[in-house]
Amino acid sequence: MSELPPYRVIVVGAGFGGLGMAAALKQAGIEDFLVVDKGDDLGGTWRDNTYPGAACDVPSSLYSFSFRPGRWSRRFPPQREILAYLHALSGEYGLGPHLRFGSGVVAAEFDERRAVWNLTLGDGRVLRAAAVVCAVGQLGRPALPGIAGRDDFAGPSWHSARLDHGAGLTGRRVAVLGTGASAIQFVPEIAKAAAHVDVYQRSAPYVLPKPDRPHGHAEHELYERFPAVRKAGRLRTFLYGEVLTSGFIMSPKFLAAPMVLWRRQLEAQITDPGLREKCVPGYVMGCKRVLFSNDWYPALARANVELVTDPVERIVPGGLVTAGNTTRPADVIIYGTGFSTLDFLAPMSVTGLGGRRLHEAWRGGAEAYLGISVSGFPNFFMLYGPNTNLGGNSIIYMLEGQISYALGALRALERERLDWLDVRPEVQEAFNAWVNAASRTSVWESGCHNWYTTASGRNISNWPAHTFLYRHRVRHFDLASYRVMPKRVATAAPGAGPA
Ligand SMILES: Cc1cc2nc3c(=O)[nH]c(=O)nc-3n(C[C@H](O)[C@H](O)[C@H](O)COP(=O)(O)OP(=O)(O)OC[C@H]3O[C@@H](n4cnc5c(N)ncnc54)[C@H](O)[C@@H]3O)c2cc1C
Repeated sequence: MSELPPYRVIVVGAGFGGLGMAAALKQAGIEDFLVVDKGDDLGGTWRDNTYPGAACDVPSSLYSFSFRPGRWSRRFPPQREILAYLHALSGEYGLGPHLRFGSGVVAAEFDERRAVWNLTLGDGRVLRAAAVVCAVGQLGRPALPGIAGRDDFAGPSWHSARLDHGAGLTGRRVAVLGTGASAIQFVPEIAKAAAHVDVYQRSAPYVLPKPDRPHGHAEHELYERFPAVRKAGRLRTFLYGEVLTSGFIMSPKFLAAPMVLWRRQLEAQITDPGLREKCVPGYVMGCKRVLFSNDWYPALARANVELVTDPVERIVPGGLVTAGNTTRPADVIIYGTGFSTLDFLAPMSVTGLGGRRLHEAWRGGAEAYLGISVSGFPNFFMLYGPNTNLGGNSIIYMLEGQISYALGALRALERERLDWLDVRPEVQEAFNAWVNAASRTSVWESGCHNWYTTASGRNISNWPAHTFLYRHRVRHFDLASYRVMPKRVATAAPGAGPA
């Protein structure tokens, strides 16, 4: 094991969360930290998702840090602009020397005696830190369907988050599995080049118009001269998201206007009654992620695109076999099948006080106090943890709250001269009892199959209240909710326990 002194903080993950945390540490004058990432560059989601048409679906005025506005080319800028924004942020805050790529953490173990976390990397190296901020995201592990014969397919195939840049689609027959947030962005793009696209749909999404438009030079000037105008735009977008959220957590009545917008768009863009029927979701709006696109329905209506709703039974070397033993030929398969979302932090194994294993503590589904702290795992803070995903607003807004809370915890460790702090079990329990009760009446537990709920139907992904309430809950680090271990000298009396 390395004998170098431990870092004050190690941040795991260099996406929006990890970079935002690193920028906050710098601003707070904390230099003794490292950011490790298993990838070969920063950016997380925006490094991995390079498919044609990739863009955010929350306007960039809100899908960016409040402390670092961007100069965006349009309301919903493409992936490369968002990635460039993160690179610029890293440069401006001098994060480069703190970043270590190719450093995937496979295990994190708390050494109680020394009050340090030992982080084991994939190559066996061990890094040590007094505190860990885990910013590994929720949408980083591609999910592939368990369809028989998947490996027998003779042509190229890839998941949307692992685009094969070498494989051209011009003139080829492409099979796309899935009609979620990624597929609705790339299908309209690939349909322009491919000879034919079969889109395999398990359930139809609600697709609302995307109020996209370019930002002209004059608009940038206006924002730069009058930052309040930019802030007002940000607030408007936020409030619209809160109205959608009201529909998800309070009453479908709040979704009446979005329902009208959805139906109008569907009827205007698809005239064939058979195809239109296939595009009508069989669940309440919001139970699965609501999507935004102006070109999804027109893409489905193209002569070279077919929406296939028969379930895929197996994959054979030359294509896909659907019900009734119909073989549909394909040269390429693209999996737009989303991500493994419920196994938070996987495949990292995390061991806390008394050898407690995080994934055992989470046998019934992941949970954490404020989505940040888990009892028994001191000085370990998560960003974008359980129940902090959103159906209707910007994750960056949530991340900012979590970053300032984690910073508050790090300051408390220093100020109170503590070895560690650990959320009280009863505090976590009460918080999660509230999360579960609030989730029960939310749209996410209304019975559809979505990526937010466990096999038993419990929401462990989404924040089940208005977004501003989350920021209110995390506005201060609440030390009283934590058990603390005062700093011990090397010869501390055995058995000294937490207060
Ligand atoms: C295509 C797509 C579009 C999206 N659009 C939006 C949107 O419009 N609005 C919105 O609010 N949200 C959107 N999201 C959600 C998005 O994931 C979040 O907004 C945000 O980017 C999450 O940032 P993060 O840093 O928490 O996680 P990520 O961006 O996933 O970054 C996590 C980082 O951790 C690293 N990592 C993971 N495990 C380890 C490990 N064990 N060791 C070391 N490093 C590790 C990864 O390599 C990655 O770089 C989108 C997601 C996808 C996939």
